[in-house]
Amino acid sequence: MTLPFFPPDLFEADREILLKTLYEIGTDPEQRFILGKRTAALEKALREATGAGDVIACGSGTGALTLAVHALDIGPGDEVIVPAFCCQPVASTVVNRGATPVFADADPWTMVLDPDHVESLITERTRAIMPAHVFSIMADMPRINQIAEKHGLPVIEDAAVAQGAVLDGLPAGRWGDIGVFSFFQVKAFGTAGEGGVVLTDSPELAQRVRQLRNHGQDGVHRFLHHRIGYNSRFDEILAAFQLHRLPTFGDRLERRAQIAEYYTERFAPLRDRGVVAPPPGRNGRCYYVYSLLVERREDLRAYLTECGIGTHVYYPVPLPLQPAFAEFAPEGARWPGAEQVSRRNLAIPIWPHMKDSDVEYVADSVCEFFA
Ligand SMILES: *Cc1c(COP(=O)(O)O)cnc(C)c1O
Repeated sequence: MTLPFFPPDLFEADREILLKTLYEIGTDPEQRFILGKRTAALEKALREATGAGDVIACGSGTGALTLAVHALDIGPGDEVIVPAFCCQPVASTVVNRGATPVFADADPWTMVLDPDHVESLITERTRAIMPAHVFSIMADMPRINQIAEKHGLPVIEDAAVAQGAVLDGLPAGRWGDIGVFSFFQVKAFGTAGEGGVVLTDSPELAQRVRQLRNHGQDGVHRFLHHRIGYNSRFDEILAAFQLHRLPTFGDRLERRAQIAEYYTERFAPLRDRGVVAPPPGRNGRCYYVYSLLVERREDLRAYLTECGIGTHVYYPVPLPLQPAFAEFAPEGARWPGAEQVSRRNLAIPIWPHMKDSDVEYVADSVCEFFA
């Protein structure tokens, strides 16, 4: 039995469609490969799916965060509160604008940022709060938004991994003043390449983002640059491919959620063995990754490798402890929650085309190790 963590056949079912799309767009007399009618159709489909006022497709999730930070006019002297336990772009996009990332600690169970710590970090230089959803769990957006509102701050919602999640009736990506999704292949709505979107209800922010993604142009007047922007454009082939995959996206999310429910039930008895499963439930959840917290992580990992089961450790070093962000880690500051989850998280396979017998084998193997 071999169950890789990253399956090699993620897009196998859609292979013919992808080839057909490639041929169609490649031979279309229009010869338009970026930001054409297919991108516009995908933006419209995602507006309808989320209810967002506007959706702007761009080059990647990182590109989307860059555009969001820039559109809010964040720059030198400004501080943005970001998660300490996350991937680099939440902090690098802030630094690349000349601003300062301020790292908020993670909750030691849910792994998302701790709202109390966020509030304690607000200064007169704070210009935005950037919560990120992590693995299967959305950040505590009601509390984050309450804190942001109290202090008059905008929220940049990094929903790169949470597309399709709904918290208290409102979809992920719509809780912030500006939100982002990523289409990187392993994300919830991943694709066979790079891509992402910015979502916002603000027409002003949307217009800025649209201009910034294509060198400050407005999409009508070529070579008229309203502002200094980026190349963060979206690919027509991937737009067509994502439009094709959108109607079945909900089914894949549902299958992931069912696998997660089964795992969580099976792992509940392991709690006194130092294994903590994510909290059960569907509200504010998107099972893009299923991550356990395990005291004996390396031993379990080695055992599962022997069983032919691939696992993955995300973010083994919290951002403020990375060499790249050393200058933004205040002397003596600690992030005990982030350090703990960096040391203990272990993700196990949860792809939608796993068979029931595969899922049972993974759960059995984990339980066997602790038997
Ligand atoms: C993947 C990811 C990003 C970046 O998205 P890319 O499309 O890979 O650039 C940003 N934030 C989070 C939380 C992510 O998981």
